[in-house]
Amino acid sequence: MKPRFVLLYGSQKGQAQAIAEGVAEEAETHGLFAELSCLENNEKYNLETETAPVVFIVSTTGDGEPPDNALKFVRNIKKKTLSSDHYKHISYALLGLGDTNYANFCNCGKAIDRRLRELGASQFYASGYADDGVGLELVVDPWIKGLWNAIKEELSNMTSKQTESNLASPSVSTTQTAGSDLRPDSSSRRIGLSSRTDGALSADAGVASLTHSLPPLSQSALNIPALPPPYLCVSLQEMETTEDVRTIDKNLQEVPISKATQLTRGDSVKTALLLELDISTLPAMTYQPGDAFDVYWPNSATEVEDMLHRLGLQDQRNHRVLISLLKDTKKRGKADCVCLPEHVPKLQPRPYSVASSCLRHPGKLNFVFNIVEFPACSGRTAGRRGLCTGGLFDLISSRLVLPGNVKSSSKPALPKIHVNLRPTCTFRPPADVSVPFMMVGPGTGVAPFIGFLQQREEQRRQNPLATFGETWLFFGCRHRDQDFLFREELESFVSSGVLSHLQLSFSRDDPEEQEGADETISPTAQRRYVQHNLKLHGRQVTDILLKQKGCIYVCGDARNMAKDVDTTLMEVIKAELGMDQLEAMKTLAALREEKRYLQDIWG
Ligand code: NAP
Repeated sequence: MKPRFVLLYGSQKGQAQAIAEGVAEEAETHGLFAELSCLENNEKYNLETETAPVVFIVSTTGDGEPPDNALKFVRNIKKKTLSSDHYKHISYALLGLGDTNYANFCNCGKAIDRRLRELGASQFYASGYADDGVGLELVVDPWIKGLWNAIKEELSNMTSKQTESNLASPSVSTTQTAGSDLRPDSSSRRIGLSSRTDGALSADAGVASLTHSLPPLSQSALNIPALPPPYLCVSLQEMETTEDVRTIDKNLQEVPISKATQLTRGDSVKTALLLELDISTLPAMTYQPGDAFDVYWPNSATEVEDMLHRLGLQDQRNHRVLISLLKDTKKRGKADCVCLPEHVPKLQPRPYSVASSCLRHPGKLNFVFNIVEFPACSGRTAGRRGLCTGGLFDLISSRLVLPGNVKSSSKPALPKIHVNLRPTCTFRPPADVSVPFMMVGPGTGVAPFIGFLQQREEQRRQNPLATFGETWLFFGCRHRDQDFLFREELESFVSSGVLSHLQLSFSRDDPEEQEGADETISPTAQRRYVQHNLKLHGRQVTDILLKQKGCIYVCGDARNMAKDVDTTLMEVIKAELGMDQLEAMKTLAALREEKRYLQDIWG
């Protein structure tokens, strides 16, 4: 009889199921038998007594939820009544499927993984988390390839443990042994990058090296596939020259920052900066309102230095890391080595929306961002700033124009940054200027709408006789006097008629104070969030969207704001048009389909 293992899947759209079925089929060719079950069919498997290795393949759906057929399983293992050794007899491996374009990447897989370990289960093979955003196969294929040896090794460890235990207590019956702890010593069977294969790079057990990862790095969610280290050779090769990736990529443009202004008051919760780039000599940087662009920012030199020290590689900074199969190995795994670099997370460029129109500012490109702050916490002794926003701040701090100041005092040479334009096809103001539109953009989500309105202002100047549709902006921030971004410009758009309605929400201002404040801008400024104002103007929203065939644009935070705005739009449609939930959903879906409900949401 072939040695068995248990294979459980949780699948929403069938992908995890298909992968699990493929694994079950392939098991045969490796001389193994997979007992395949869906997680919801709990009559087919029994983790309470299982002693064979268990393999989980689970996807994540919606906002990080388990697939429907794994819901009950997840609920069960989360029960607080379970003791910390409830699953100490379980030895498992887990493959999670997810998509980094959505919030809570691989949340279901990670939650199961975490909970199993809390309940005493041990991992015999490192978890794989595959990203549909870049291609599941990048993780799935090498993970499955490594799985077979891991299962065999685990089965043989289990057998030798069982033999040892039988020898030690010969009176114990087979049935009793099957239910006892069959886990071999976990340290000898962890699969990861921890084995030492190369003399030059090896390190003591407690010291981090290229082949030995220690917390907190070893606990971070890097999607590095588990490779069988005993067959790997890791070595360093000196390089004569080093190349900066920013100078290799021919698409990148090096542009000077011509102006930097702080938009928020010193006491505001977040600090927002407006930077102006001088693109006058770069015809390739032609943009439209609604476009975004990437900023490429290198790792901080001090942090790179710290990392080299941690790995004991400070004298080998200009070396290339070579990974190959050991010469005398019989293992075939060339493809795994080739795949490895693809899984090492690349330093990602940071995208920002363009916050200007080149009709209004020829040769210039503006963008706005909040300086990201990470306060000190356990595991981070000192606070730190975001890599790119912190780096940009350091670069321009000496020429920063503070609120209330017209000019900066010093004029050092213009600092330059590397950028790449990311044009959009859809997030653009309506081509027909008579079409009315609404914009919803709290915080820095207002950025693209500044470009929309600057463009509209120029269009009105150039075509004074044309008919222009109504424009609405729903903007929100915390305090009118602290972080009301682009306040003067927005007020001037209202006075000139470029912006027909500016609806403001100050989430942390005292509502009483707001009532008396500046009613010329918006009589409803006391509303807390943008969606409260949308609801208040529900009739106009449905009128513009459904009667006048207008458009609505939403920009900003994807996690909370965009969802809440979506729910509000649904409620408004239901209330104003007397529709039920299903009809309202279909109406919103049709608006999306017709590209009249557009989102540019982040995070
Ligand atoms: P923010 O300061 O976090 O928030 C702005 C306002 O939104 C605050 O008054 C906040 O209120 C409120 N808010 C909080 N939860 C909300 C909810 N569920 N619904 C509606 N409003 C809510 O804004 P931000 O930090 O600038 O973030 C804007 C987002 O836009 C970020 O995700 C950013 O990545 C994205 N974005 C940036 C750019 C860019 O070019 N930089 C472009 C487009 C989008 P309270 O804090 O008082 O709750």
